[in-house]
Amino acid sequence: RQNIAFGGDAKRGHRSIRNLLAVASGKGGVGKSTTTINLALALASEGARVGILDADIYGPSIPIMLGNAGEHPKSIDNRHMQPLQAHGLVANSIGYLVPADDAAVWRGPMASKALQQLLNETLWPQLDYLLIDMPPGTGDIQLTLAQQVPVSGALVVTTPQNIALADAQKAIAMFNKVKVPVLGVLENMSYHQCENCGHKEFLFAQGGGERISGQNKVPLLGHIPLDIHIREYTDAGKALIVDKPQSVISQAYGAAARQL
Ligand code: ADP
Repeated sequence: RQNIAFGGDAKRGHRSIRNLLAVASGKGGVGKSTTTINLALALASEGARVGILDADIYGPSIPIMLGNAGEHPKSIDNRHMQPLQAHGLVANSIGYLVPADDAAVWRGPMASKALQQLLNETLWPQLDYLLIDMPPGTGDIQLTLAQQVPVSGALVVTTPQNIALADAQKAIAMFNKVKVPVLGVLENMSYHQCENCGHKEFLFAQGGGERISGQNKVPLLGHIPLDIHIREYTDAGKALIVDKPQSVISQAYGAAARQL
């Protein structure tokens, strides 16, 4: 595991970050946060310095998934925050700052401002990647984020189900509109494989990822199965990729991360 050293330059903001990547989905519940964490861990396991900005102001899941939901970032000079560390990653989230019920009822401008603060007032160390876990949807907050934050690329997570693909398509259209390159689509919950007999079941239909990637001429970064270990590890705030680097799932996340 890496030890990340902080520069401590309070004015630096996000200038020390080489790649700011937005992880978006359109539809909620398709596994965007789960994917953000696992791609971050996969990139870190290849030696990259990686951070996560949880921009899902209305439903921050990153603190639970990193297993440090009770912690708070240290305040520096009353204006800046030291990001939290977990599994070799750094992270910040509204979930570390205010009780969930408070942020859940913020109006758009307040939520957008909170997001800007999380990005600009966090003392991010030198990072190769900062993955931004976007809020689901393609509304005001998402547009503001895509326009005001110097995002170098976006990644769209979808399940193969039509209803999720339709929303993923909207997310791609939004990034096209604001001229943020879409680096790829990752299909999540592609199939479930029975641990006893090996039979693969395509619970949310099949071929959706290929279709959306073909129609938009963006790479399909891979297929992640619907798997109990993914759910158990994220619920427990543990890192599957660190514990089981040779598993099919860790390898699939690794292959996707190498295309970013
Ligand atoms: P989103 O960020 O799109 O709202 P989450 O990442 O929070 O979605 O995932 C929703 C739930 O589904 C979580 O409880 C997570 O553990 C579970 N989940 C996501 N992807 C998978 C997967 N491939 N296999 C099993 N469970 C998954």
